[in-house]
Amino acid sequence: VQLPTKATHRQTREHNTRLVLRTLSEAGRVSRADIARRTRLTRTTVSDVVAGLMDVGLVEEVGRGPSSGGKAPILLRIPPDARHVIGLDLGEGAFAGALVDLRGDVRREIRVPLEGRDGEEALTVVHDLVAKLMRTATSPLLGIGVGTPGIVDTRSGTIRWAVNLDWQDLPLARLLTERHGLPAVVANDSRAAALAAYTFAPGSRGRDLVAIKVGRGVGAGIVLRGELLLGDGSSAGEIGHVRVVEDGRRCRCGNVGCLETIASAAGIVAVAGQLAARTPGCTLARAADAGTLDLDQVRAAWAADDPAATTAVLEAGRALGRVIAGLEGVLDIHRIVLHGSVTAFGARWLEAVRAEAHGHTLPTRGNGVEISLVDLDADLVLLGASAMLMTSQLGMGLAR
Ligand SMILES: [Zn+2]
Repeated sequence: VQLPTKATHRQTREHNTRLVLRTLSEAGRVSRADIARRTRLTRTTVSDVVAGLMDVGLVEEVGRGPSSGGKAPILLRIPPDARHVIGLDLGEGAFAGALVDLRGDVRREIRVPLEGRDGEEALTVVHDLVAKLMRTATSPLLGIGVGTPGIVDTRSGTIRWAVNLDWQDLPLARLLTERHGLPAVVANDSRAAALAAYTFAPGSRGRDLVAIKVGRGVGAGIVLRGELLLGDGSSAGEIGHVRVVEDGRRCRCGNVGCLETIASAAGIVAVAGQLAARTPGCTLARAADAGTLDLDQVRAAWAADDPAATTAVLEAGRALGRVIAGLEGVLDIHRIVLHGSVTAFGARWLEAVRAEAHGHTLPTRGNGVEISLVDLDADLVLLGASAMLMTSQLGMGLAR
């Protein structure tokens, strides 16, 4: 029999603390006895852990619950403002940063347009954003959660490659911790958003899902058995560069015919422009000629049933649907949610995605799969990055 050492005592205590926090975050208001029942820890252990958490302000008593015969039990909760998290979304064209409370409510948000800045300059924008949020914080800060485009090694907090920001092998988590003295986690934006959809979206809360961002790029985040799937190289869900067209157009990754060249915002604009140039009288032709065609113009033309826009958008939906069918086949996850700027093409685009996905899966399986838009009006990337930080620091998700 191995006697417990000090180290294992500490590990056990940390494990128990995380278990109690997670139970509190899932249950909302709950008594010590209920926590013991749910965690299967002894009541003495629970009382002990709770006392420690109350000392640091992470748990408070909030009156008495209904009595089940004897004395009504005292209820506990995590005060939402006990700690705040800095969440960052290093998004397309702008960086957003926010102070997020432990319920996932955004308490203060700042957006900074990038105006073409990349490399070191873009990194300076990140540091300034964090410093500004730290100055206005009204609660103790737990750390920094970052969602960024590109290939990210989440375990080490390193951005391997973010094309548009011109970042390569940037150890962002370490740089943030060194500069600001706070723990930091960094995740790919699609991955972070998947976690947020899993945690918050009505209808998908707590259900395994694939969340696909269809915007400037196309990427998926996969939540399997309640956990974000990272993959061996931290790039599980990198579906934007699956080839869908032989001899297709050149992609920004260097390959040819990737899903992104057709289904992303830029892909749709490029395809619509090519088609418009070949279609006499097409409303988009002039903008396509001048090289000024953008997503808003294609959206307006799509709403007006312009043939070039219609073809480009429906083909974008179908290409995405075929890749989704492949994911379904591999993962057998029944909930697929879509978000990002391209989802603004709405119901007809979504129908094209669904029809193609269902047409390319086993008939027995396709019916059980729901493909829908994320029903949540929030910055998913920022919330998901905050949730990751909370999980890493407290072992709990956001408690809304
Ligand atoms: Zn590619």
